[in-house]
Amino acid sequence: MAAIVGREPRVAVAAIVGPGAERVGAMKVLRTVAEVRAALGGARRAGRVVGLIPTMGAFHEGHLSLMRRAREECGAVVVSLFVNPSQFTEAGDLAVYPRDELRDAMLAAEVGVDHLFAPRHDEIYPPGFVTMVSTSGVATTLEGAHRGHGHFDAVTTIVTKLFNIVSPDVAYFGRKDIQQAHVIERVARDLNLAVRIAVCPTVREPDGLAMSSRNAYLTGDERAAAPVVHAALLVGRMAIDAGERDPARVRDLMADLIAA
Ligand code: AMP
Repeated sequence: MAAIVGREPRVAVAAIVGPGAERVGAMKVLRTVAEVRAALGGARRAGRVVGLIPTMGAFHEGHLSLMRRAREECGAVVVSLFVNPSQFTEAGDLAVYPRDELRDAMLAAEVGVDHLFAPRHDEIYPPGFVTMVSTSGVATTLEGAHRGHGHFDAVTTIVTKLFNIVSPDVAYFGRKDIQQAHVIERVARDLNLAVRIAVCPTVREPDGLAMSSRNAYLTGDERAAAPVVHAALLVGRMAIDAGERDPARVRDLMADLIAA
């Protein structure tokens, strides 16, 4: 988060011209499923590769790196921006989650994104919505155990919906959320979804902390201590590279560093 503080988007034009015609620079802002399908029709007929980056906004360099990679690899780049309430297991976390759609739109336009899909809540969850995509196995450990199983069910449901709405050839996810990426790869395989999942490197602050919208919640002391997580990962990797094969030993080395 620190890297985007004070980093203002450089796209100068934010022309809002009425329903179905919102634009920020050259980028179209789409609100409905019908608008997305209409907007991508031309790209599909022209045989262009469609890339999708699902996000919850509050863009930082981590998000922008996914968009740049999609811009390099795809003929049409779609970013979705939707703060998905059902994947927040704490109401307080949802209430304070950072939101600034215009700033996000300008950053995405600056990177060369073609379409920003920023739907209203009811467009995604109309009254009567009851269907979920639920994954067991990889979704039940680590973050799934910590936040509760409902978290990944909510993620897999929204991502499957976005895949059905956009029909991307490639969808880009960050290694920062490695378990999420594995869960989504599992869903794509299990449900025969015709999308390639691209998992992209973690973008970090200069001191090693992975960029995250939630880093803004850290107090000064917590922020100062946070890079130890990355340092511990590096120590674990060094031990494995040096031949350590006992997972408990690797875990102890990392835990000792964090405790110190
Ligand atoms: P979010 O808006 O937090 O849901 O993140 C949207 C996408 O950006 C997810 O695929 C994340 O894994 C990815 N992402 C978030 N932070 C980073 C980061 N620091 N480096 C790389 N990818 C990231």
